[in-house]
Amino acid sequence: MTNQTLLRQAVAIVGGGPSGLMLAIELGCRGVPCVLIEAQSEAPSVPKANATSSRTMEHYRRRGFAGRVRQVGMTKDHPQDVLYCTRLTGHEIARFRIPSRAQATERSDFGDYGEAAWPTPELPHRAQQMYIERILREEVSRYPSVVTRYGWQVMSVADTAEGTVVTACEVAGKSTLTINADYAVGCDGPRSLVREAMQVGYQGASQAQREFFGGQMMTFHFRSADLYQRLAQGPLQRPAWQSWIVNCEMRGILVTINGVDEFAIGIQLKPGQSADSINPDEVFRTLSGGPVFQYEMLHSGTWTAGYMLVAEAFRRGRLFIAGDAAHLFTPTGGMGYNTSVDDAVNLGWKLAAVTQGWAPDALLDSYHAERHPMAERNTRFAHRMADSIGQLVMPPELEAGTPEGEQARKTLGQTLLKHVADEFNIPGLQLGVRYASAIVAHEAGEPPLDSPNTYVASGYPGARAPHLPDQQADMPQGSSLLDLFGTGFTLLSTVELAPAAQTDWSSAAAALGVPLEKVIRTDAAVRDLYGAELVLIRPDHHIAWRGPASSGPLPVLRLVTGLFPRS
Ligand SMILES: Cc1cc2nc3c(=O)[nH]c(=O)nc-3n(C[C@H](O)[C@H](O)[C@H](O)COP(=O)(O)OP(=O)(O)OC[C@H]3O[C@@H](n4cnc5c(N)ncnc54)[C@H](O)[C@@H]3O)c2cc1C
Repeated sequence: MTNQTLLRQAVAIVGGGPSGLMLAIELGCRGVPCVLIEAQSEAPSVPKANATSSRTMEHYRRRGFAGRVRQVGMTKDHPQDVLYCTRLTGHEIARFRIPSRAQATERSDFGDYGEAAWPTPELPHRAQQMYIERILREEVSRYPSVVTRYGWQVMSVADTAEGTVVTACEVAGKSTLTINADYAVGCDGPRSLVREAMQVGYQGASQAQREFFGGQMMTFHFRSADLYQRLAQGPLQRPAWQSWIVNCEMRGILVTINGVDEFAIGIQLKPGQSADSINPDEVFRTLSGGPVFQYEMLHSGTWTAGYMLVAEAFRRGRLFIAGDAAHLFTPTGGMGYNTSVDDAVNLGWKLAAVTQGWAPDALLDSYHAERHPMAERNTRFAHRMADSIGQLVMPPELEAGTPEGEQARKTLGQTLLKHVADEFNIPGLQLGVRYASAIVAHEAGEPPLDSPNTYVASGYPGARAPHLPDQQADMPQGSSLLDLFGTGFTLLSTVELAPAAQTDWSSAAAALGVPLEKVIRTDAAVRDLYGAELVLIRPDHHIAWRGPASSGPLPVLRLVTGLFPRS
C-alpha cells in the first residue's frame, strides 16, 4: 500500500465523464496543472447519450478533434433519421430526415433541418457517448499539465482556508492519494460527492408520470447481425437513427448504434413492474410486429426518466459542480450531455484565468450566474418535449388496415412530425445560448430572440460568436470565422484598426496579463453580422463586448475579466 500526495494542483476534477474530461481538456490546453480522478478504469461501454449538438461539435472543433468525433457513430452513409412506426415491420407514420455522417461532413444535404436555419460549421452528430468518451480520454492525454487517475475513487473533498483537500483510493488496490488543489470541481454525476460536500441540493421535479419518458425505463443493448435483414419488409427499408414504435400495446425506441449490428432498445416499465419480469424475446417480438432476429445481449439495465432538477448553487467557496452533478434532465432533445460539455467550457477558461493570476476569484462567480439559467432553460425544454411525446394518446384503430386506421395514422403522423421538428430542429436551443452576467457588457436594445427552433445570429454581448464561412485565401476550404478565435480573448476588428489603437489594446492586455489575439476581417458581411467595429470574444467564444474602434481597452478588459464587473 502506498500513500501519495499530489501538491499544488490548481484544480482537482472529480469524475471523468463528458463534463470532467472536457474540463480537463479546457484546462490542459491552457497549461493549467490539474488532476482528474475517475473511478472507472476504462471508458464506459454502455449506451447513454447519442446526440451531440452543434454547439458541442463547435467546442470539439475549437480543440481540434471534431473531425475525430465525426468519424465515430453509424457508418458514413447510414441515414440518421428519426422514424415513427406502429411496429418495426408495421406502418411508417412519420419520418424526420437528418443528414448522414457523410452528408453532414460535406454539407451536401440538410434533410429536414433547413440549411439557412443552421449557420454553423458543425451540424449536430449522432454517436454514442461511449465512443466519444474514448476520444475525450485520448484528447486529455495530449496535455502534459493534466494528471489522470483512472480507476481511483474520490472518498472526500474538503474546502479549507488554504485550498481544497481531496482524498482518493485505488478501486482495485489499496493505495491512497491526497491532492491539494486551489479549486475542486465535481463532475461526478447525479450522486455527486462534491455537491454533498457543498451542502447543496437539487431543486425541481423528479417524479413525472408519462406513458413514455416518465418513470422507470429499461434499456437493452445488444448485437444483432440479422436485425436489418429480418425486419427489412417495412419502415426499416430505409434505416433510421431512432425508430420509435408507437401502438396501444407497447411503446419502445430502437436506437442504431453503429449502423451495422449494434443496437439499443428502450421501453418503459409499467408501475410496479420489475426488470426481472421482462423477457427481452417478448419485448423484441412485440416491437418488431412478429419477426424475430438473432441477438447477443451485451447489457441491460434500468434508469429513471422524468427528472427536471437543477442544483441551487453551482459554486460554494472553492468547490464547483458541473454536468449531471449540477442538473439532471429527461433525455428528450439530448440536453444532459451537451449541457454538461457547455458547463465545462464556461468554467474552464475562468479557472485558468484565476489560477494563472490574470483575473480575480470573483470571475468564478459568473459561472453560476451564466450556467444556472442555461440549466433551467434546457431542462424546461427537455421536460416540454418529454410531455409532448410521452403524453400522446394512441388511437385504438392505429394499426387497423381500414380507412379509419389509415386516417388515424395520418393524423398521428402530422402530430409527430410537428413534435419531432420541435425536438430536433433546434438551432436556437443549441446555438442561441446567451449569457447576461456581470462580466458581459450591458447594451441598450433588445437582445436576440431565444427560441429553440429559431436561431438569430447576433453580435449582441453574451451571445455565441456567430459563424460565417471564412474564404480568405490563407484559410483552408471549409474554414469558419470561428476558427480564427483563440484560447484567450480575441479582439475582432471589422475595420482597418489604426496601429496606435492596436498598440493600445496590446499594451492594456499585457498590463493586465490577459491573453489577447487580434483578428482583422473587414468584409461588410462580418461587420453587419457582428454589428460593431470592434468585438471582444471570450475564450469560450461568446461575445463579451462590442463597440467603436475608438473605445478605450482598459475598462473593457477589466469588466470582462471580473476586475470591475458591472453590478
Ligand atoms: C440511458 C441514458 C440515456 C441518455 N441519453 C442522453 C441523450 O440522448 N442526450 C444527452 O445529452 N444526454 C443523455 N443522457 C445523459 C448523459 O449521459 C449525461 O448527462 C452525461 O453523461 C453527463 O455527463 P457528466 O460528465 O456530467 O456525468 P457522468 O457521465 O455521469 O460522469 C460522472 C463520472 O464521475 C465518476 N464518479 C462519480 N463519483 C466519483 C467519485 N467519487 N470518484 C471518482 N469518480 C467518480 C463516474 O464514474 C462517472 O464516470 C442519458 C443518460 C442515460 C443514463
